[in-house]
Amino acid sequence: MATTHDGRLAIVTGGVSGIGRGISSVLARDGATVAALYHRSEVEAVEFEEEIRIAGGRLSTHQVDVRDEEALQATIADITEQYGRPQILVHNAGIANGTPMMAADVPAMRDVFEVNFWAAVTATKAVLRGMMRSKFGRVIYIGSPVATRWATQGSAAYASNKAALHALARQVSAEIAPRGDLTANVVAPGYIRTPKTRHLEKSHEDAILSTMCSERPGTPEEIGEAVSFLASSQASYITGTVLDVDGGFGLKTISRRKRRRNTTT
Ligand code: NDP
Repeated sequence: MATTHDGRLAIVTGGVSGIGRGISSVLARDGATVAALYHRSEVEAVEFEEEIRIAGGRLSTHQVDVRDEEALQATIADITEQYGRPQILVHNAGIANGTPMMAADVPAMRDVFEVNFWAAVTATKAVLRGMMRSKFGRVIYIGSPVATRWATQGSAAYASNKAALHALARQVSAEIAPRGDLTANVVAPGYIRTPKTRHLEKSHEDAILSTMCSERPGTPEEIGEAVSFLASSQASYITGTVLDVDGGFGLKTISRRKRRRNTTT
């Protein structure tokens, strides 16, 4: 029986932990052959391969530091040799440094760009020729609402490179969309509970949740569902855009509960 992705090869950076794990799981469930790249999650990678195998999916894991351009290129070349041309690329690996500009450490900010942005450039370059030959390709970057809609202290590097990713998707889209069923898009998650956000204080988390229509964090799998849709043939006319998957993040300025409290005091 045909599945959504029909065995197409998907590369997911940071595909073993956090949001990336949700993305890899849903893509594998929907019939993709997934090559999930990881950096430090070695133990999780072994467990994850087994979990997907038991569920009847196809997933391999590959260790690489995406800041190392040559190593990333070599990893993608190895995956291509082993499994064929990647037709889906999800650049999900991402870090933040949280330092205000006044105290900014430029090398640390560069590091954020290396992981979040330059690795996207390297990976995209490595897969595009094969996608064009296949006349099918899906490039999906994991962005963020801070790229366009939010300003928070300590997010200068993070927000700037997410904005750069949004721009990159638009420009790549213009280059590839005329060449077949090829698209490039961004999925922008709102607030998802993962190792990245687990350290947030409860009061900070409550403040974030109070601006969201859903008033709850999203799950990595909910991001995976959006990515899997954009990666499918059904999404052939969606390109160069940003899909917010955020429970209405930032749409509310003040929660009803707070408003009620304010009007009674
Ligand atoms: P986590 O901190 O939980 O995961 C970060 C991921 O990036 C891990 O899979 C990690 O791999 C990988 N990674 C980090 N550095 C490297 C590196 N040098 N080389 C290879 N892989 C690396 O973050 P999330 O899962 O929360 O975030 C995933 C993406 O979603 C990021 O791009 C983030 O900016 C974005 N995002 C997250 C939101 C949220 O609320 N959580 C909101 C908006 C956007 P490993 O575990 O193997 O080290």
